[in-house]
Order: sequence, then C-alpha cells, then structure tokens
Amino acid sequence: MKIIVLKFGGTSVGSTSRIKKVAKIIAKYKKKYSIIVLSSAMSGVTNNLINLSKKISKDFSDSEYDVLVSSGEQVSCALIAGELINNGFNSRSWVSWQIPIITEGKYKFSRINKINKSQIMSYLKKGGIPIVTGFQGINNKNRITTIGRGGTDASAIMFAKFFNAEKCIIYTDVEGVYSTDPNKLKSAKKIKVISYEEMLEMASLGAKVMQPHSIQDARLNRVDIEVRSSFTDNEGTLITKRKNIVNNKIITGISNTTNDAKVTLLGVKDKPGIAASIFKPLSDNSINVDMVVQNISANGKETDLTFTIKSDDLAKTKKIIFQNKKINFRDLIFDKNVSKVSIIGVGMVTTPGVTYRMFQTLAKNKINIQVISTSEIKISVLIDKKNVRKAISSLHKEFKLNNS
Ligand code: ADP
Ligand code: ASP
Ligand code: MG
Repeated sequence: MKIIVLKFGGTSVGSTSRIKKVAKIIAKYKKKYSIIVLSSAMSGVTNNLINLSKKISKDFSDSEYDVLVSSGEQVSCALIAGELINNGFNSRSWVSWQIPIITEGKYKFSRINKINKSQIMSYLKKGGIPIVTGFQGINNKNRITTIGRGGTDASAIMFAKFFNAEKCIIYTDVEGVYSTDPNKLKSAKKIKVISYEEMLEMASLGAKVMQPHSIQDARLNRVDIEVRSSFTDNEGTLITKRKNIVNNKIITGISNTTNDAKVTLLGVKDKPGIAASIFKPLSDNSINVDMVVQNISANGKETDLTFTIKSDDLAKTKKIIFQNKKINFRDLIFDKNVSKVSIIGVGMVTTPGVTYRMFQTLAKNKINIQVISTSEIKISVLIDKKNVRKAISSLHKEFKLNNS
C-alpha cells in the first residue's frame, strides 16, 4: 500500500468552496495512493477562539486553552469528510483523541511522540480516506493538548513518519517556499529544493510558510516535504536533506520577525556572573532570550546590556527583572519597534565576505544595525521595524535572489 499524507492549511479550507476544491485535490491522488489528510482550522477560526479566551481572562488556563483552540480543526475535518462522502468516496473524520495521537510536554507547546496506527491502518486497507485534526493530541493524563501555532505542519510530518508515507505534501496559499515572503516582496523567487537546515533557519527566523518544529521532526525522521499551492497546479518546493541538493547560491533566503522586543539595562554593575544572574530567572520562567549584546564598560564598573525577547514576554520580563534582588542597574528601557532580519544559506560557509556585503548594503541604505548574531549558515541583524522592507529588498538584490 503506497501511503501519502496531505496537509491543508487554514486558507486552503477557508470556505466551503475552498473545501470543495480540496476534495477534488484529494480525489486526484486517490487513483494512485492511500491518503491520510491532516487539516487546519478554517482561516481566522483559531484566532477568534484565542480572542474569546482573552475576553474571559488574560491569564486563561493553559489546559482549557488547548481544549478551546483545538476545536476549530473538528469543523474543517467534518466538512472535508462530508464533501468527500457527497462525492461518493468512503471517508470519515477523526479527532485526535479518538486515534489517539499522544503528545508530551506543556499545554500549548506539546510535541507529538506517538500515533496509534491501528484504526487508521484498517480504514486505509478498506479504501477509506481518513481526515484527521491537525495541531493537537492528548497527553498521558488523557487531556487535550495543542502543539503550537501552525502545528498542523508537524502533525502531517509525524503521520508521514509513523505510517512510513512515500510523501508528505503541504498544501498552502503560496506556490512553495520563496526566497522571501512573496506577499511582501514581488520579486521573491520560488525555491525548487531547499535543505532541512536552511528551511529550519528560515522558519525559525520568521518565514511563516512552515512551522519550525515540523522541520526538526522532518529532518530527524528523514521525511521529504513538498510545499505547494491548493490554488494552482504549479510545481512547488521540495524540502529534503542537503546531500540531495546541488546548489551554487550563497544565500538561499531572507526572513524577518514581527514580534520581537529589545530590552536594555543601563548602568548594570559589572562583575563576574552578572549576566547569569539576569538571565537565569528569565529562563526559569520559560522566557527565551535571543540576541544579546553587552557594551564594554568605560570605567570598568558599569555596563549596558541589551537583549531581545518575544514581545509577548515583555511584561513578564520587566516584572522578573525589577524583582531580581541579585542585580543592580540604573534604568530599563525597551523597544517593540524592532525586527530581526536574517540572511540564510549553506553557501556562506564556503564564501568569505558575506557579512561585509550584508552590512555594506544596509549602510548604503542608511539602515542602522542595533544588534548582530550569526551562526554557520545565517546572519541576523536587529533593525528598526520601519526599515524592514527596504532592508529585505536591498539584500534580495545584493545577493541576486530576484525573480528575473
Ligand atoms: P497555512 O495556513 O497554509 O499553514 P501560513 O499562513 O501558515 O499557511 O503560511 C503561508 C504564508 O507564509 C504565505 O501566505 C506567506 O505570506 C508566508 N511566508 C513567509 N515567508 C515565506 C517564504 N519565504 N516563502 C513562502 N511563504 C512565506
Ligand atoms: N489552526 C492552528 C493555527 O492557526 C493550527 C494550524 O493552522 O496549523 O495555528
Ligand atoms: Mg501554517
């Protein structure tokens, strides 16, 4: 039995007419494959559910949040199965606890670690098309969990792994992975193949097209992913291991974040262990500190320390720092009008001068760099949010990524 997994994102199931189109796509594969479908909620539904929780409380229970926000997927799955039945196919929906899909970790941010295959397998053998709710599972207390925004990507990849699927196809609202967000830069170019490593960096650094965890799962389990559009029939992008790719590009893509905040502590008493005293309580409270820069202190006594966090964590971060008795500082200032722009490419490992070209391009465009961080295959800079468009389009041109 040749199995494939098809995942449909929110826009692809965003209306009943879109769902009818999705059923047609599924029917096309039915001739050759046994199909498992994973669906997201209809676009906007998850956001609406989250807003309802916020109206009850800003501190809404995490476990009830998961019960609430996972409900959107049940609707879209029933509609897809219903349409397939209407068209003469044998289909039914499955909510994750009925399978079950087992997760571990915290509510809101769980990860799938096991899928019970028996029911789905026997249904596939009978020629049925199972339609499964993405983005969720149950934990060892038998409670509903969710696996992070955009998590249906990871659900699909884990199904592909457990069912040893030949392919995992992610249907979305763009034709594949582009050199940068095609909805923001017209000259963005579709990428034919991209390595897990580059895709993971692009996704972690802001390219919403794939959820970062899903790429980690795919890389670990060697699941090839095809990303394509449910709106057109054009070829998409293959995400696969580096060995399968012949590539002579230095930079593959450019990403940017939209939800970072910069915090600066002024006049911090400069002594050994001070950075640890600041960051330990943040890490204990699951606040992820990203970029860090410490200025050299002129007098050897005081220093300024700047770091970035997710803007959602700003209030909590301020509270923790002001309550921290182990540190002394003169003032705390913060800025939400920042964005991290990153260039990503395995080609930079073997090409000198990439950093210089990036900085020079930004300088030519009068864009001030506030913080820098690098890894083997990416360079990130923190800049003022108002300069993001200009930064991306000039870097896109500099590294010859334009669609021409
Ligand atoms: P879905 O609902 O199908 O999961 P998402 O909205 O999560 O879709 O992801 C698709 C969106 O990702 C696109 O509409 C596009 O605006 C955005 N995006 C950001 N960066 C990229 C990129 N490099 N390539 C393609 N799309 C991108
Ligand atoms: N519906 C969920 C979300 O909006 C999961 C997903 O779309 O993959 O985050
Ligand atoms: Mg998505």
